[in-house]
Amino acid sequence: MDIQEQEGKRSRPVISLVLPCFNEEEVLPETTRRLTALLDRLEADGEIDPASAIFYVDDGSRDGTWGLIAAYSRQNPRVCGIKLSRNRGHQNALLCGLMTAPGEVLISLDADLQDDLEAIPRMVQSYRAGSEIVFAVRSKRETDSPLKKFTAQAYYRMLAFLGVQVIYNHADFRLMSRRTLEVLRDYGETHLFLRGLVHQLGFKTDIVEFERMERFAGESKYPLSKMLSLAWQGVTSFTAYPLRLITGAGVLVSLASLAMAAWAFCLRLFTNEALPGWASTVIPMYFLGGVQLLSLGIIGEYLAKVYESSKNRPRFHVETVCGLPFGKAGVK
Ligand code: UDP
Ligand code: MG
Repeated sequence: MDIQEQEGKRSRPVISLVLPCFNEEEVLPETTRRLTALLDRLEADGEIDPASAIFYVDDGSRDGTWGLIAAYSRQNPRVCGIKLSRNRGHQNALLCGLMTAPGEVLISLDADLQDDLEAIPRMVQSYRAGSEIVFAVRSKRETDSPLKKFTAQAYYRMLAFLGVQVIYNHADFRLMSRRTLEVLRDYGETHLFLRGLVHQLGFKTDIVEFERMERFAGESKYPLSKMLSLAWQGVTSFTAYPLRLITGAGVLVSLASLAMAAWAFCLRLFTNEALPGWASTVIPMYFLGGVQLLSLGIIGEYLAKVYESSKNRPRFHVETVCGLPFGKAGVK
């Protein structure tokens, strides 16, 4: 422990900013310019070590993203990058960056400048004051459409109801210390929902608020299908509660059908009324059919997860690297 640590403040760390990129050629020039200026400023202020870097993970882009990263890495000593052999999705690309980038502290953020860079100095300060993980949390959702606001809120509520613990309004803009990254390395799941996993690690955490901006240029690389898939991972990776709900629904429906049988029996015994035939036969039939199909579907989803995980396939393949020397991606 050095003198600064004894005084309660850690010495200035080597940091890497980790940015997954998928077809981001429109934003990369501006992103690189702003991030370089930010690191230069933090270095001049004595907050970070001069070896701090910008680490791009090209998630199998089909445009000129990798060409730009490689060119920047030749001109700008701060820039380095890793190229995946094909598009594996944001979460896998991010994990690759977190397991490969150098530095004592890694800060993950999106490449499109939606995450406010001014939150980064505060995150570093929090680390230096002793935090191991710092979550950047959106203070407002003004740049979101009303539909996105509503669905995001409904989703966080549902996660809370199902007992999944995540930080409200936190995506993947966060600081992690080397120590917590080593712990994260041990999690071998195939389907990633990093914001949930990181929250489970424990350690001393902190929250920093920021306002999310509009995307600097280009289109979102997270279409509805990818977003729904991530949302579903968030549920099925952290709770088996939906399976329990099915059991509960099964019990309820069975009790209801018993009650209906009793009712029909009583009608037959004590009255002369004819049974209302069609409705009482057809409606429960369709209802039960629906419940059964839904139940099978949910069970199938969990089974598919077990199946995928049992294959134990690598999450990504690294095609090439550029910039600072670094080792092979240390996770499957
Ligand atoms: N991204 C990625 N792989 C993908 C999709 C997205 O690496 O398959 C990256 C993308 O380049 C960006 C970040 O993930 O840096 C967040 O994506 P985007 O900004 O398009 O999502 P949104 O902000 O619209 O939810
Ligand atoms: Mg974005």
